[in-house]
Amino acid sequence: MIQICITSRLSSLPIVVAYKKGYFEEFGVKVSLHLNTHHKAILPLLDAGRVEAGEIPTIAYLQESFLKKSKLKRIYKGIYLYHSPLSFYSRFQFKPEDLTRNKAYILPVPHINSVERLFAEKFLEEYAPKNPVKVRYIDTPGFLEEKEFLKPNCLGLVSDSFSSPFLKNFQDFGNSLDLPILKPNTLYPSTLLAFSGDAILKTGREVSGVLLAVKKAIDFLQNTTNQSTGNLWDDLQLSHFYPHLRVGETKNLLTAHPLIQKGIFSHLGDESSLYPLLKDVYFRLIRRVIQPEAVSAALNFEEILSALEPKKVFDVRKLSSFQEPTNVKLHAPSQINYRKLNAVRHLIVDVNSLVLDMLQGNYGSRLNTDETLQLDNRVKVLVNSMLDSFNAKIELQREEITELENLISILEIKLDRSAVDLQYSEEKYRYLFEFSREAIALVDADTGSILEANNQFRLLTGYTRGDITKMTIEDIILGKQVSSQLGFGSDLSSDTMLSLPDVEILAKDGTKVEVDISFTSILLSPKKRYQVQFRPNSERKEQERLQHEFISNVSHELRSPMTNIRGYLEFFKSDTSLPFNAEHTNMLEVIDKNAKRLSFLIENLLKLTTSREKDKEVEVVEIFDPVPVIEDVIHMNSHLAKGKSIEWDLSLKKGLFIRGIKFEFSQIITNLYVNALKYTFKGKIGISLKESNGKVEIIVEDTGIGIDPTYKNQIFDRFFRIPSSDNKKIGGTGLGLSIVKSLVEKMSGEIFVESTMGEGSKFSLYFPKINATV
Ligand code: ADP
Repeated sequence: MIQICITSRLSSLPIVVAYKKGYFEEFGVKVSLHLNTHHKAILPLLDAGRVEAGEIPTIAYLQESFLKKSKLKRIYKGIYLYHSPLSFYSRFQFKPEDLTRNKAYILPVPHINSVERLFAEKFLEEYAPKNPVKVRYIDTPGFLEEKEFLKPNCLGLVSDSFSSPFLKNFQDFGNSLDLPILKPNTLYPSTLLAFSGDAILKTGREVSGVLLAVKKAIDFLQNTTNQSTGNLWDDLQLSHFYPHLRVGETKNLLTAHPLIQKGIFSHLGDESSLYPLLKDVYFRLIRRVIQPEAVSAALNFEEILSALEPKKVFDVRKLSSFQEPTNVKLHAPSQINYRKLNAVRHLIVDVNSLVLDMLQGNYGSRLNTDETLQLDNRVKVLVNSMLDSFNAKIELQREEITELENLISILEIKLDRSAVDLQYSEEKYRYLFEFSREAIALVDADTGSILEANNQFRLLTGYTRGDITKMTIEDIILGKQVSSQLGFGSDLSSDTMLSLPDVEILAKDGTKVEVDISFTSILLSPKKRYQVQFRPNSERKEQERLQHEFISNVSHELRSPMTNIRGYLEFFKSDTSLPFNAEHTNMLEVIDKNAKRLSFLIENLLKLTTSREKDKEVEVVEIFDPVPVIEDVIHMNSHLAKGKSIEWDLSLKKGLFIRGIKFEFSQIITNLYVNALKYTFKGKIGISLKESNGKVEIIVEDTGIGIDPTYKNQIFDRFFRIPSSDNKKIGGTGLGLSIVKSLVEKMSGEIFVESTMGEGSKFSLYFPKINATV
C-alpha cells in the first residue's frame, strides 16, 4: 500500500485522475490518497517516512536534496506533475516604481520553497535593488482568493491565472513589462510527486507502478479534447478534491485549454528552464546561509501558526481525513472539515494582516469578529482581548515615556539655558581677554607653552595666532630662565606670582622689546595656567629718567653754590682776626654743620643719578671675585670706627665669582659697611662670604641699635630714615639702602634684612654664582 499525500491545488490533478480512473490498480498498485490543502505538511511527512509519496514543490525538493537534511537522507524525485506559467499579478493599478515605497507588503506564494517564491524574490530584486522592499511571504494554504488579494498591502502574486480563476481583472506584468526573469511562454516545473527513501527501498516495484499510473494520467490530460474532457469535472467528482475551486472556471480549463496542450501537466522537466532554476536555488541557498538576517526578514509564519496551534490543523495525521479508512476507498475530507480549514485559513490571513498593521504602527488594529463560525470567533475574541491588554500596557508605558520625555525636555531646556549663560560669560571673558589694553598670554603651567595670546600681545610682538601656539614662554623671554622660578611642571600653589622688571622679549621681526612681566597663576579647570602680562617699560623708564635728570640737575645746581658757601665758611672760620664773639662762632659752627650735611646730601644724590647715567654709558660688566673689593671697602672706611670699641669678624672665601660692575658692587658693600659702623657703638661687625645653595652669599652684620620691625621694608625706600631720636643724632640722608637695593637687583641679586632692636642687624645678599675662572 502506497500512501500518497496530495494538495487540494489543481497541480495534483494527474494523481487524482490516475486514482479516479483506476490507473493505479491497472499497474498493480494499492494507493490511498490523503488530501491536504497545503504543501506545508507534506514535505515533513515524506521526510520522516510517514507517507510513501507526496506532492511537493520542485524547489523544496531541490533544496532538500542540496542540503541533504532529510531524516532518511533522501527524497526521490519521482515525476513532475505540474508546470507553472509564471507571471506577476496585481489586483490594483500597481506599478513597479511603487516598490520603492518603504512599506511592508504581503506576497502570497504556494509554498515558502516554491518556484513562485523564487521568482517573486528575483522580480523584486530586479525592480527595487536600491530600496529593498519589505515583503512577508505567506504560503497560501489553498488557492489565492479574492479576500487575500484585496488586501491593499498585498503586493502581487506569482502564480498562474488559471489556478486562481477569480483573477478576472488582474494586471499581468508579464504582458506589459519586459520581465527579464520570466521567459515568455515558458513553463516552470512547479510540483512533483516525490517518494521517501524508505518507500523506494521497501516498495520499489509499487513505486514504479505509481509512476506509470501518473504518467498515464498526465498523458490522458495532455491528450484531452473537448469531447473527452467534456464531463471530466462531474464524471470524476472533482469538487470533492477541489471544493474551493469555482466549478465553471475549472471546467473551462479542463476543456482542452491551450495551456494544457502546452503542457502545464507534464512529467518532463524542461532542461533549459530547469538548469537556471537549479543554479538559482543553489546560490540562493548559499546566500541565505551567509546572510541569515535576509531569511529572518521574511515573515516568521511558523510562529503565527504555532500560536494558533497549527498542528491541529496541519498535521494531516490528526485530520479525520487521514484516519485509516474503514470501508471507504476515497478519503477526501468532508465539506465540514473544509469549512473549518477554511476558517483557520482565513484567520491566518487576518492575523497576518493584523501583524502587518502592527508592524506599521497601527496598534489599534483588531481581528474582525463578524464571522459566523464559532471556533473562529472564539479565537479571534481571545486574540483581540490579548491585544487589548497588551495595548493597555503599551499605553501605560507610553504615558510614562511621555512623562520622561517631558522631564528630559525640561532638563534639556535648562541645560540649553546654562549653556547660553556659560557661553555668554565665556564670550565676555574672551572679549575682555582679547581686547585688553594689556598684552596678555595664557601659558600652560606644566610645560610653559603659550596656549593663546591676545590682540595687544600680537600687536606688541608681531606674532600671529599660529606662531604663538608653537612657542613656549621661554622662547620669547631673553636671558631669563623663567622656568626655574615658576617651576613649570612642578606642583605650585594656586597663587604663584612673579614679577620680572626690565625683561627683553623677542619680537617676530627679531627686534627686542623691553617689558615688565608679571605672572599670575589662574586655575582654569582642569589645568593650571599662568596669565602673563607684558607691559612695555619705556613709559616707566622715561618717568624714572626724568626724575633722575631733575635730581641730577638740581644737585649740580646746588653743588656750586654749596662750594661757595663752604668756601666762605672756611674763610670765616680760619680768619681769627675777624671780630666774632662766642655766639657768632657757635652760629658759624651750626651753619658749617648744616652746610656739610647739605653737601653730603647733594653728593649722595649725584651718586644716585650718576650711577644710573653710567648704566647707559660705559658699563663694564665683569665676572670677578668679590673678596678683594670687600677688603678694599673695609680698608678705606675703617677710620669711621675711630673712638668706638669695635671688633671685626671677617670670613671671606675667595674663588667664588659674580657678575656685575665692580664699582657698583663696591658701592653696595660700602653703604652696608658704613651703616653697620654708623649704627653700632660697641661690639662686633661681621662680614662673611661663602657659597650657599649654589649662590654667593654675603652677610654684613652688626651688634648695633637694630631696626624697628615696622620699618623693615621702608628702609630701602629713597630718603627714608627711621624716625627715632638716636637716628637723628647719628644723621644720614636715607639714600644709602635704596642705592644698595637697586644695585643688588641690577646684578640679579637679592637682599634680605633681619634685625632685633638693641641687639643688631644682619643684611644678607645673594648673587648668582658664575662658573668661571678668571
Ligand atoms: P641713612 O643711613 O643715610 O639714614 P640708609 O638708607 O642707609 O640711610 O638707611 C636707612 C635707615 O635704615 C637708616 O636711617 C637707619 O634708621 C636704618 N639703618 C640702616 N642700616 C642700619 C643698621 N646697620 N643698623 C640700624 N639701623 C640701620
